[in-house]
Amino acid sequence: MKLPVYMDNHATTPVDPRVLEAMLPYFTEVYGNAASRNHRLGWEAEAAVETARKQVAKLINASPQEIVFTSGATESDNLAIKGAAWAHRGRGNHIVTLPTEHKAVLDAAKRLEQEGFSVTCARVGADGLVDPDDVKRALTDGTMLVSVMAANNEIGVLQPIAEIGKLCRERGILFHTDAAQAAGKAPVDVERMGVDLLSISAHKIYGPKGVGALYVRGKNPAVEIAPLIDGGGHECGLRSGTLNVPGIVGLGKACELCRLEMPEESRRLGGWRDRLRDGIFSRLDDVRVNGSMEHRLPHNLNVSFGGIDGESLLVGMNDVAVSLGSACMSATREPSYVLKALGVSDDRAQSSVRFGLGRFNTEEEVDYVIGRVVETANVLRDISVKAEGKCKG
Ligand SMILES: *Cc1c(COP(=O)(O)O)cnc(C)c1O
Repeated sequence: MKLPVYMDNHATTPVDPRVLEAMLPYFTEVYGNAASRNHRLGWEAEAAVETARKQVAKLINASPQEIVFTSGATESDNLAIKGAAWAHRGRGNHIVTLPTEHKAVLDAAKRLEQEGFSVTCARVGADGLVDPDDVKRALTDGTMLVSVMAANNEIGVLQPIAEIGKLCRERGILFHTDAAQAAGKAPVDVERMGVDLLSISAHKIYGPKGVGALYVRGKNPAVEIAPLIDGGGHECGLRSGTLNVPGIVGLGKACELCRLEMPEESRRLGGWRDRLRDGIFSRLDDVRVNGSMEHRLPHNLNVSFGGIDGESLLVGMNDVAVSLGSACMSATREPSYVLKALGVSDDRAQSSVRFGLGRFNTEEEVDYVIGRVVETANVLRDISVKAEGKCKG
């Protein structure tokens, strides 16, 4: 077993060797610009991009022409939200989202507030799930966009996307979902879910960093958005800039592997996630899972360890790579805004650790992590009991 054991697969995933292998020729052999129409190296690059477009589309039951390649889910979220807002200002200026969204969604919406849009966050329950009726109640005559993530990056809960898609469709409101954590890990189908715009990131699904995609509905109805980046008119004018051909090839291959292996992988990782939970819960008191266990990604576990500082737990088991919550928030040391939105106390939020299993974990690693978590938590609790005793004595 190689240390550290990596269980932070919501922050990023290693590149699958099969993805890397697919990418390699496009750095040094087929290095043409996919927009070059006058020679074979350009055509071959373009053909590879079109193959990837099909692979991405197939994962989410879309058509290839509905896929726009971007630099990742942050850009896809910004393009979806600002692009929809700018193109449809005439329809209204109200946006509905959730307090538990990724910052790429929340801060894009906040930026639009400075331009005169208004934003409502529908509440989530103690289990992290939004009730579609609460989304419905948040809608006004001026609502032009709803953005609700498919799966949360901290607590892994799966939102009722199909229900929300249906009520948006009935009212002619655009519906965006950030599926950076869900695509490739749980079934995602843009038709069944009634989604108009959907964000994907390659590095969350064993592809390379710095590449992603936005699905933009092409029919029933065709959805119009405005670009964020102007230039050579690539990607039908929605995202100018020379295409990242190796990255796009990697994203396509990553999507294909997820589509083919998801049923088996979900079962395997779901079994190990439950083993991790049961192993920890049978040997430690005062531990709680954050977020719905029923509507949850199979590889996610988020646990509060009563009376323990999460940061100390992580420092104490430095041969296990897990995190407190979102990687983007770890610099601030504020308690997770996602957990706070569930009504979790500051103390409990500070004691929470996110485990994200992945394709390359083994059962041996799961058992090792259980042992290290239990051992470290017991040491920390002993220390605090002794410290309390000393104060009293
Ligand atoms: C990782 C992540 C993002 C950002 O994706 P990048 O490709 O790193 O920009 C956005 N939303 C969610 C839910 C994520 O997990």
